[in-house]
Amino acid sequence: MAEIVIKNLRKEFGDFTAVQSSSFKIEDGEFFMLLGPSGCGKTTTLRMIAGLELPTSGEIYIDKEEVGQKPARQRDIAFVFQMFALYPHMNVRRNISYPLISQGMSTRQVKDKVAEVSRILGIEDILDRPVSGLSGGDRQRVALGRAIVREPKAFMMDEPLGALDAEFREHMAEELRALHDRMGATTVYVTHDQLEAMQMGDKIVVMNHGVIEQFGTPQDIYDKPATMFVADFIGSPSMNFLRFHGEVHAGSSNVRLHHVDLAVPTVREPFQGDLVYGIRPEHISLRDEGDNRGEIVAAEYLGTTQIVTVKTSGGNLKARIASDQPAKPGETVALEFNGTTATLFDNQSGRALR
Ligand code: ATP
Repeated sequence: MAEIVIKNLRKEFGDFTAVQSSSFKIEDGEFFMLLGPSGCGKTTTLRMIAGLELPTSGEIYIDKEEVGQKPARQRDIAFVFQMFALYPHMNVRRNISYPLISQGMSTRQVKDKVAEVSRILGIEDILDRPVSGLSGGDRQRVALGRAIVREPKAFMMDEPLGALDAEFREHMAEELRALHDRMGATTVYVTHDQLEAMQMGDKIVVMNHGVIEQFGTPQDIYDKPATMFVADFIGSPSMNFLRFHGEVHAGSSNVRLHHVDLAVPTVREPFQGDLVYGIRPEHISLRDEGDNRGEIVAAEYLGTTQIVTVKTSGGNLKARIASDQPAKPGETVALEFNGTTATLFDNQSGRALR
């Protein structure tokens, strides 16, 4: 098991900076997500932690030892690339035992280790089967077996479920998380899927253009986004943004937006200029009466809830309401915001005001 500390880590490829000075700490035993859109630098960050890429500057500490410039083999980290990367001509037992045999472990020890790992993964029955005939799920379990059998200090996983269809992906995500909870090994996991990051992670780093936008628990990131990028990237449908020019006083808990007073969580610093009022769809209610009116333009049924799009003077807003509440396109409704959950942003910097 390992604690991993990243300090001012930076990676340049020629003139291009893939990762700007990044700092964060991964606690021992944590399931840690690196999340962001394609090209944001998450894979490069993961590869630097694993030692597959050397940083341009900055430090990486694994259990307090600085390893930034050390080769991968001196870091005792298992990198799970694509889980399907198996030796096709070998059976399951050989695939799992291969890393141990190449380390020079005795036959007896190898046998015991393989037995233990296959019990953890529930693949005792298929040990003598060739991997070529296995189902997708079993192949992934075998690939995981090969990674965990060495008992490395930490696991690095790069979009391991990326190639799977949605239903199976969800199932494997649950299995991976359960496996982690049983073994307790520090795991760093790269994904561009915000839902996967929220469901599986203890902590999440959200990256954009090589910069860390926010670092925190899934709940922190969802409820208290630090930037408009995070607010928009996390949640489906994403947060509604209402842009306006105005001011907010220090200690005040409301803003005046298009002639309507709206509650906001208190801010410490006064601000005047271009503001954005951010509110999640589940924090907007639809009423018959009220000041803030608009026309329903769409209603999307999702089972227990529905997403209703309302056209207002400030733009289209999405509300998540109970599916049994009547909401028909063409109707006029009033919107009520649960302002204590709203976030105000400085439109220019994109940063949340708190
Ligand atoms: P993806 O999910 O698409 O892999 P990512 O967030 O993991 O995205 P990285 O793979 O870390 O992003 O890449 C970040 C940026 O660095 C990209 O613009 C990529 O083109 C660039 N990059 C990565 N590796 C190299 C390299 N070896 N040489 C030059 N540029 C690179």
